[in-house]
Amino acid sequence: MELNYPAYSGKIFYMKPLVDRFGRTITYLRVSVTDRCNQRCNYCSRPQEEHKKRDQLLSFSELVKIITIMAEMGVEKIRFTGGEPLVRKGITELVGMVNAISGIRETTLTTNATLLSRFARGLKDAGLKRVNISLDTLNPEKFRLITGGGRLEQVFDGIESALREGLVPVKLNTVVMRGINDDELASIIDFAQEHGLTVRFIECMPMRDGFDWKRHYMPIHEVLEREDIKERVAVEESAKEGGAEYMLPLRSGRGMVGFISPLSKSFCRRCNRLRLTADGRLHLCLPQDKDVSLRDALRAGADKKTLEALIRKAVELKPEEGVYTFSTEGRKKSMIHIGG
Ligand code: SAM
Repeated sequence: MELNYPAYSGKIFYMKPLVDRFGRTITYLRVSVTDRCNQRCNYCSRPQEEHKKRDQLLSFSELVKIITIMAEMGVEKIRFTGGEPLVRKGITELVGMVNAISGIRETTLTTNATLLSRFARGLKDAGLKRVNISLDTLNPEKFRLITGGGRLEQVFDGIESALREGLVPVKLNTVVMRGINDDELASIIDFAQEHGLTVRFIECMPMRDGFDWKRHYMPIHEVLEREDIKERVAVEESAKEGGAEYMLPLRSGRGMVGFISPLSKSFCRRCNRLRLTADGRLHLCLPQDKDVSLRDALRAGADKKTLEALIRKAVELKPEEGVYTFSTEGRKKSMIHIGG
């Protein structure tokens, strides 16, 4: 009999929990529902991305099968992402189906919010808890350039609808890029504060070729040294030495700001997440191209036991630490394929 179950947390585990070779219990799955996006962010996707064909993507019933098995192994939190998750036809129904899976405690979604005003009500009704919204600039022209033609006012409408429907807390994800938006970080903090949002600044990762990543990369510790940031955020010295992901209070007392440093620091030691790509590959570590196809097994007729074994075997491949090459050369998958 297995005795290494985590302490009872009010949830019944039907199977042995999913624990990797380094003792990390996997409870979080990011599900990319499409590799298509209605934007072309310069640091994220290539101008001419190749997309999977419709029949290469996991169907909703395949997705539900995989998530159900993983929920039985202890996965309790699902984040829908992509590509842009709101361009996948039927996304609202999918959210409802996943929320109905026993063991799933929370579903969330990461979106560029350009279509959110159309979907927010339905997503809320389907049981979605909250959204993270990507927003790198407050300048419409810069937004158009970064996103390859996007319209900033659609994002503002999306934010408004998320707040109205109670998809809260709404978190903004801002990728920090030297020479592109580093002059706007303070304004983004002010914007977030004014609208009751939480902003998180994220280091730009070298995820795609053709983007001059070295020129634009700016480590979080540099952000924390800026006067306009220190005026707004209570930056404790200890934070600079601290982990890769932390929240600091606003001096106004009206909220917090997050700082995420996947490159200059590392949060691998407590990484409890896996990613499922739109074509059904279990991707084990963001900066590494290691994955295992669950779709192929499923379509070859694998039963539940076989899939469970395959998932456990895949998790054994999860490395202790994700190594960034600090170069975009030779990366087979961009963020749009892996699911951010
Ligand atoms: N389309 C959705 C969106 O825009 O939020 C979801 C997918 S997108 C790939 C998810 C997140 O990945 C976004 O917040 C985006 O800013 C982030 N992202 C993409 N490429 C990145 C990179 N090179 N470095 C850091 N974050 C990145």
